[in-house]
Amino acid sequence: MKIPFLSFEETNKIIRPEILKKFELFFDNSWYILGDNLSEFEKRYALFNQVNYSVGVSNGLDALRLCLEVLEIGEGDEVIIPSHTFIASALAVTYSGAKPVFVEPRLETFNIDPTKIEAAITSKTKAIMPVHLYGQACEMEQIMQIAKKHQLHIIEDNAQSQGATYKHQLTGSFGTINATSFYPGKNLGALGDAGAITTNDALLAEKIKAYRNYGSLIKYENKFAGFNMRMDECQAGFLNVKLPYLKEWTNQRQQIARWYQDGLKDIKNIILPFVANGASHVFHLFVIRTTDRNTLQEHLTTNQIGSMIHYPIPVHLQEAYQYLDYKQGDFPIAEEIAETCLSLPLFPGMTQRQVNEVCQVMRAFYL
Ligand SMILES: *Cc1c(COP(=O)(O)O)cnc(C)c1O
Repeated sequence: MKIPFLSFEETNKIIRPEILKKFELFFDNSWYILGDNLSEFEKRYALFNQVNYSVGVSNGLDALRLCLEVLEIGEGDEVIIPSHTFIASALAVTYSGAKPVFVEPRLETFNIDPTKIEAAITSKTKAIMPVHLYGQACEMEQIMQIAKKHQLHIIEDNAQSQGATYKHQLTGSFGTINATSFYPGKNLGALGDAGAITTNDALLAEKIKAYRNYGSLIKYENKFAGFNMRMDECQAGFLNVKLPYLKEWTNQRQQIARWYQDGLKDIKNIILPFVANGASHVFHLFVIRTTDRNTLQEHLTTNQIGSMIHYPIPVHLQEAYQYLDYKQGDFPIAEEIAETCLSLPLFPGMTQRQVNEVCQVMRAFYL
């Protein structure tokens, strides 16, 4: 690909000396699990996310699973999740034994439609899991009001939106307890798997610290039947190097998005990203919609431009969830998004010239 969908080349160049130095320190220090790098990262990420506590864990899916575990959500309970999301949001719920109850997104924002949540609440509902998809904050004011009225927990899936805000409050700081992912391709990415929870609740943070470590806070004393879901010390070290760059890299993502918006605005057949009132967007992905999606993607590939579909099969139609007994047509908005969405190349370090080239190739297809 002449213009890849995602490239770490530019950002890696910048951090290379610091990363190599950090690795040497880590290696020579001979302390590989639950050490100073992790406790430093937890302090700094909590500060970044403006919450009292952050706890590093193995990955984003485990972070979500731990959130449900410490809230004691499981068999017989229901959790409201968006019908349009990455499968991990649903996997966390079904793994807990609870039932995922899908609510359709707003077609314009791709995020859960707050006006449709109340109709999905039953006496079994324990929590709402808003997913800040593609980098845009969900409409948290309305969602928080509904949760308060019905005494439900909020568990944010903030894997794609580190640094996004709703009415100036950061995503990952609204819910009772929230999860994020540092999968390499996320806005803040480790060099392997990693994730974290964020919360203002001291007791829940302590519980997560125990649960991620066999259910133990004092070695060989097990308070809970826990897991091994710790964040690696070396990943915490790498994240300590990368965290200070996140603001600048987010600015770059937003600049690239503006270039796209400008370069594509007169193509009538495509729908550009829309940001809801009060929400900010950190452009984890730049997702357009068009009925010509498949032929447009072929055209981009022919012209050596990478693109991706997030996501081609809606969660309720995945083979893994056949047992939930959903069929085509059950969540028409999620299905329409799956059929029409296309993610264009966007990564920190992408140049205006590269964006212009993508726009030109798209214009040649349409105009
Ligand atoms: C990436 C992602 C996850 C899972 O994170 P992993 O670290 O890959 O386990 C969960 N939810 C969403 C929305 C994601 O994008």
